[in-house]
Amino acid sequence: MSPGDRPSVDLPTPARVLAVGAHPDDIEFGCGATLAKWGAAGAEVHLLVLTDGSKGTWDPATDPAALAATRVREQDDARRHLGAVAVHHTDYVDGELVDGPAEREAVCAVIRRTRPTVLLTHDPWKRYRLHPDHRAAGFLVLDAAVAARDPHFFPEQGLDPHRPALILLFEADDVDHYERVADTFGTKVDALLAHRSQWQSTMDIDAESADADAQRAAFVDRLRREVAAHGAVIGDAAAEGFKRIDEV
Ligand SMILES: [Zn+2]
Repeated sequence: MSPGDRPSVDLPTPARVLAVGAHPDDIEFGCGATLAKWGAAGAEVHLLVLTDGSKGTWDPATDPAALAATRVREQDDARRHLGAVAVHHTDYVDGELVDGPAEREAVCAVIRRTRPTVLLTHDPWKRYRLHPDHRAAGFLVLDAAVAARDPHFFPEQGLDPHRPALILLFEADDVDHYERVADTFGTKVDALLAHRSQWQSTMDIDAESADADAQRAAFVDRLRREVAAHGAVIGDAAAEGFKRIDEV
């Protein structure tokens, strides 16, 4: 955003929404409260999780296939909290996501089938981002969005082209759009805590510890500080921030 530009605040409730994350729980961190708000207001919200999340643990003894199955169940639990209608999975291997032609075709097909008014995903241009899947996911989804709108990409799919009205990138360095989320912050927390396998590695909550309640409170506090910081920019108690792309 250039100095002097005012950020935009609160889109009209979109008819259909597709939020795409690299791993189970990324969507909830990035835009969970916004999706919950739109879901409650009648939007048809779809989630697409690109990888199987099979490396999401610190325990070397964990069976990756069993973890992937657990994470499918947790993601569906989170979906229910958010009021989303479906979770779509492409099941690429965690940590090995690439923006290749086959992956682009798969994501393009989900966009053409779900026909989102608003498409949300990771900001691939966020600086100093460590996890390769988060960078790859952002580029993959944007490249798939270009393919989805143009009829000469993947005509063999037999699906009508689709162009979202707007793309919102979460975790953005350059935030220029805010969604007010004071009413659905608690739902974001509930949806994140549904990812129980991630309590230790991502949320610093050790369920076996005597301090588990305090650790959980610290996690909620961390989330609250994030939405409060975004909210402060627009004079509101809580917001999620995005980079918006209008020219799709
Ligand atoms: Zn992730």
